[in-house]
This record gives sequence, structure tokens and C-alpha cells, in this order.
Amino acid sequence: MKLYNTISGAVEEFVPINPGQVLMYTCGPTVYNYAHIGNLRTYVSEDILVRTFELNGYDVTRVMNVTDVGHLTDDGDDGEDKMLTGARRENKTVWEIAKHYEEAFFEDMKKLRLKDPSIVERATDHIANYIEFIKVLEKKGYTYRAGGNVYFDVSKVPDYTKLSKVPLDQLQTGARAEVVVDDNKKNPYDFVLWFTKSRFDQQEMRWPSPFGEGYPGWHLECSVIALETLGEQMDIHCGGVDHIMTHHTNEIAQTESYTGKPWVRYWWHAEFLLDAEGKMSKSRGEFLTLALLEAKGFSPMHYKYYLLGSHYRKQLPFTFSYLEGAKDAYEKLRDRVLALDEPETCNAHMDDFVAALNDDLNTASALTVVYDVLKDDTLTSGQKAGALMQMEEVLQLGLFEKRELQVEEEWVLEKIAERSAAKEKKDWETADAIREELREKGIAIMDGKDGTTWKPL
Ligand code: AMP
Ligand code: ZN
Repeated sequence: MKLYNTISGAVEEFVPINPGQVLMYTCGPTVYNYAHIGNLRTYVSEDILVRTFELNGYDVTRVMNVTDVGHLTDDGDDGEDKMLTGARRENKTVWEIAKHYEEAFFEDMKKLRLKDPSIVERATDHIANYIEFIKVLEKKGYTYRAGGNVYFDVSKVPDYTKLSKVPLDQLQTGARAEVVVDDNKKNPYDFVLWFTKSRFDQQEMRWPSPFGEGYPGWHLECSVIALETLGEQMDIHCGGVDHIMTHHTNEIAQTESYTGKPWVRYWWHAEFLLDAEGKMSKSRGEFLTLALLEAKGFSPMHYKYYLLGSHYRKQLPFTFSYLEGAKDAYEKLRDRVLALDEPETCNAHMDDFVAALNDDLNTASALTVVYDVLKDDTLTSGQKAGALMQMEEVLQLGLFEKRELQVEEEWVLEKIAERSAAKEKKDWETADAIREELREKGIAIMDGKDGTTWKPL
């Protein structure tokens, strides 16, 4: 199985630490608002990654954190407290906000037929461990205290930018113009491990600590939760490309300083979904959610089919007309799959399917193989169904999900009678229109020598 590794900049053969086992960490959602469909793109790609590992016989332990403590938009003391902004907006406590959006996130995952991670950990459940972690870093001389906060001193780490490979003097302290520079820092790239003072003093989530009452810096949770659940080394760490420059860079710096060992073998990053204005972002206010797509008549599977048509390492533009195209193609594909006979065991084209996914998760090629199965005249209908069912294990597009019957049987029989009458009169246009009307209601009709029969699609 070959995967692109951000830290080496090359597509590499995947070799795990323990044979047959994958230790995987995936940065989870910040739960101060709904996930936007851009966030969900990253989780869809991660699900394909997990299922491709499983297809190759690996046993995967996948950990995900839930960021339920006020994380600041950028690093350090920049930006705003997202949880507090969410709570103010909705007149709720930060804890209520976190619970609500965490549930909503896992609901979206389910709608997209994504597997639950093996382990999900909330950032706020590990405060005592963050404190212990910081104490060790302090003892080892990687930190300093200033203005009430504890900072990580990046000058102590010689290969600090080894993930992004952007030289320090070319890194920007903050991507946005309004960022306020934190005067407490010795070096602009230093980051906060523990806050007791920030520009946002109304932080509701605060805990006592030897450094003063306060709350943890954002990067800590992933390092500490990963150490607790996966041990000192792991195979693969995943997230969106926006995490390369700061979040993952800081995770590496603090974790390797803590353990004194190399930490992650493969760094995996998913590219962005772009809307008309460019990068989709939660803090921009208006954004696209799965619920919004559903309200406009698109199913989560239409969106997923659109995503799988392109490679996870390529930026992907999103427009409703592209989604319309995906919906159309998906519905036609599902019609063909639902019209197949009962599945029989069949491995035809499976090698090509596995090869496509093993080539750095080429989902677009994997989808082509799905169509190859349908076109293959050497297979019986049941064999096609059998082969496609195996592919569905990875793609999870709901291609075998029967449409629910929305109509009474009596109505169907009336329509069939109307159509037979139209055919008698050679009114093919009406006959076809009725067939289409039935199809839209989830009913397929078959003309045989004993008349017309029907079945749900
Ligand atoms: P967040 O909830 O903001 O922490 O983001 C959750 C995940 O979505 C992270 O792995 C981000 O890197 C990723 N992400 C954020 N914006 C986008 C986007 N526009 N397209 C794809 N992934 C994104
Ligand atoms: Zn993380």
C-alpha cells in the first residue's frame, strides 16, 4: 500500500511499526459550531484510508480527539475564543455548546456512512495529563513562563520546521492582518502550553494548576491523548493541510521533546474543499453544512460521490451545479446496482479496485472499476452484485440501499394499467413518462410475456 508522506515529500510504501497493525491518530473537530462540508471532506478521506487499511488486512486503531475547550483561532493568544463566541451567540454555556455540536458531528459522520473511530477522547477529560506533560517539559528546559502563561520555546528544537520545511524566517506569525503579537513571547513562533492570562479573560473553562488557574493551549490535547492511547510512537497521523504549518509542527516539537524519540512515521494531509470565495471556514459565519445540502434536495451520498471522484491531495472546488452533476450520476449508478440480481460470490475486478486504492487512495480510479464491473458482459447479474458489494465495503456509497416505497401498491397497479393502455395506442411518449414517474417513486417495471411486473428499486 502506497501513501504520500508529507514529512518526506514522497509517495512511500506503508510499513507499520507492528506487522498487521495500524496505530492512527486523526485530529478531530472543534465543537463550537456545525462541521462545514469542507471539514467533512477530510473525514470522508480518512474513512477511505481506514477502510483501505482494513482491505489490506490491517487491524486499525484509530483515535480522534474532540476539541471542546476554547481554542483560539490561531496559535498563542491570537484570534478569538471559539467556544465562548459560540456560547454567546446561542445563549448557552460552553459545555452545552460543546455537547450539542459533538453530537451533530457524529450524526454527520453517520449520514456519510463513516466508521466511528476506535477511540474518541474529549480534550477536557485530560487536563491532569496536560499538567503532567507540561511539568516534564519544564523540567527538561523546553519552556518559560511569561505574563502568567507557560510557553514552549521553539528555539530549543533544532529541526522545528521539519514537517513543513518552511524556514523559520519565512513562517508568518499569523496569517491574518489583525493578529495581535504576543509581547510575552521570546520568539514569535513560541506557543502557549498553559494560559492563565489571555486577551479573552471571560474564558469559562478554567482549571487549577501549578502554573495558576487557567486552561491548556490547543496543541497539547493531540500530543497527550495520542501518547495515552497509542503509546510513544504511532504509524500515521492525519488532518487537513491547514494543520501542517502550526498545529502538527507544534505537536511534533512538544511530543518529541517529551519522549526524546521520533514520534510519527507517516504524516497524512487532506487538501481543502474550496467554495466560490476560496477556503471554506467556520469562523467566516455563513457556511455550507450537510443539513443545508439536504434541505436543497441533495443526499449525503450525492456529496460523497462528488468527493470520491477526485483525489484527496487535490484542492476541490464546490458549486451546486457540480453537486447536481454528481447527484445525477449517482442516482443512475444506484439504479443500475439495484436492478441487479441477488449477489453471488465474485472477485472479478477486485484486483484493479485494490490497486487503485493502494496507489495513494485513488478513489476516482476505484469508481471507474465500479463501472467496469457493470459493463463486463462475461459476468452474470448476480456476480456483478457480488463484486460491487465488496467494493461497497470501502466506498460506503449506499449503492445497495433500497429506496423506501413512498406509494401504495394500488397506485402502482393503476399506473401500470395506464401505461399498458398507452402502449396499445402506440403512445410511447406517455408510456415512457409513466415508467419514469414510477422510477422516481422508487419502482422498477419489467415487461415480460405475462405482462408487466414491478419491484422496488
Ligand atoms: P476544525 O473543526 O476546524 O478543527 O477542522 C476539522 C478538520 O477539517 C481539520 O482536519 C481541518 O484541517 C479540516 N478542514 C478545515 N477546513 C477545511 C476545508 N475547507 N476543506 C477540507 N478540510 C478542512
Ligand atoms: Zn491535532
